[in-house]
Order: sequence, then structure tokens, then C-alpha cells
Amino acid sequence: MKQKIANFMYGRYGNDQLNRALSVLILLLLIVSFFFGFSETGSTARSFLLVIVLALLIYTYFRMLSKNLSARRAENAKFLAKTARLRDWWQLRRDMWNQRKEYKFFKCPSCKAVMRVPKGKGKIRIICKKCGTAFEKNT
Ligand SMILES: [Zn+2]
Repeated sequence: MKQKIANFMYGRYGNDQLNRALSVLILLLLIVSFFFGFSETGSTARSFLLVIVLALLIYTYFRMLSKNLSARRAENAKFLAKTARLRDWWQLRRDMWNQRKEYKFFKCPSCKAVMRVPKGKGKIRIICKKCGTAFEKNT
């Protein structure tokens, strides 16, 4: 069975970041659809959502099974470029959370760049690496 799947997937595109994002979106839409009541408007809204979910599912599988690898790679690159800022923002929040015990994070008052300072150093002067603005903070 495993070999059969491997043979079937040979030369096909498989998964990428765009497909993973689509899968998360599908799951979220399904969860949202559960919250619609069973009134007439509720079921209309649910049917509408489920049509979107079905379309997204078909698109995700189409991409996964596609043999046009360069087209799929181009789509993924476009997706990554468009979401770069959002993903950077999210990555920064994750880093801040993971390093919250050792570091304090400050935003530069003039250019808004985020800086990392070791905790427990008392009041220190911070110089922004990006624009050179100096400011004092308690760590
Ligand atoms: Zn700055």
C-alpha cells in the first residue's frame, strides 16, 4: 500500500506552504460553519461556506497531485512573497515569547525597530542599530 502511494505520488507536486495554509483555512471555515444556527439564514450561510470549503479542498488536492511542478512552485513563491510581512510579524512574536525569560524586547521610539536586551541589567541606554536613536529603559 505504501509503495502504491509512493508510485502514485511520483512526479507529483505534493505539499508546500501554500497547501498547508489552505488546509488551515479549510479547517477554520469548517469550525466557523458549526457556529451558524439552524435557522434559514444560518443554513444558507453554512451552505455558502461549505461550497467555499469544497472549492478550496479541490484546489488543494489539485495542487498536491499536479504534475506541473514549475507552475505550482511559482504559485507558492507568490504566496510566500505576499505573506512575508505577516510571517515575519508572527515569527517575531514567537521569538519574543520563546525568549521572554532571558530577554526584554523594546521598540525603537523613532523607527519602530524591535531590539532585544538581556534581562536584569537595570536601567540601561539602548542605541538603535537601525537608526542610531538612543533611549533609556529598565531591563
Ligand atoms: Zn531606530
